[in-house]
Amino acid sequence: MDSKHVSTIEHVGVTVKFICNRGFSHEAVRHRLSNFSQESSRFCNYSKGKFGKEITVVEPANFDSWTQDQRTAWVTSMKVSESNYFSLLKVGLKPDDARGTLPIDVKTELVMTCNLRQWRQVLKLRTTKAAHASMRELMIPLLKEFKNKIPLIFDDIEI
Ligand SMILES: Cc1cc2nc3c(=O)[nH]c(=O)nc-3n(C[C@H](O)[C@H](O)[C@H](O)COP(=O)(O)OP(=O)(O)OC[C@H]3O[C@@H](n4cnc5c(N)ncnc54)[C@H](O)[C@@H]3O)c2cc1C
Repeated sequence: MDSKHVSTIEHVGVTVKFICNRGFSHEAVRHRLSNFSQESSRFCNYSKGKFGKEITVVEPANFDSWTQDQRTAWVTSMKVSESNYFSLLKVGLKPDDARGTLPIDVKTELVMTCNLRQWRQVLKLRTTKAAHASMRELMIPLLKEFKNKIPLIFDDIEI
């Protein structure tokens, strides 16, 4: 890394599967030198048994620091979103159309492949204090894992 010939680390790719909310995935897919596959909200029907007949949401990263009123309001708002989604399916809309009522906190699965140079770029941007708490919640442990497994390439990135 000291020689600055970082193009050599582009030969190695790493694939990571994130279980995250849609806010996280919206931000992650902005990283253009990456490849993605994602659970489809068009073709997954969350009213089916396969999904437990409910939507799954991801608790915000800083949820525990919220007041009881804030936590209750968030849970209520997720339930309202779920109820709106199911009511649209009930009148015959497809998940394709009903998905508009799903919250950004709905759970998704995102598979992201980058070469090591690009992971350095992603992890530098997405672990700083400026990044969203839900982004940092997943990216900081990921950076620690990279530092642990390939210290030579990731040790200089500060958390
Ligand atoms: C804290 C934070 C807040 C953000 N807020 C917003 C926001 O409010 N609104 C918003 O729209 N976005 C926002 N973003 C997203 C941001 O603008 C970038 O789109 C995103 O971080 C991807 O970074 P990137 O363009 O450096 O790198 P990538 O897309 O990951 O590409 C990697 C690198 O490849 C090179 N590269 C890629 N494509 C090109 C190209 N076409 N031409 C030249 N070089 C290229 C660049 O060197 C780039 O740094 C935010 C990001 C962060 C981290």
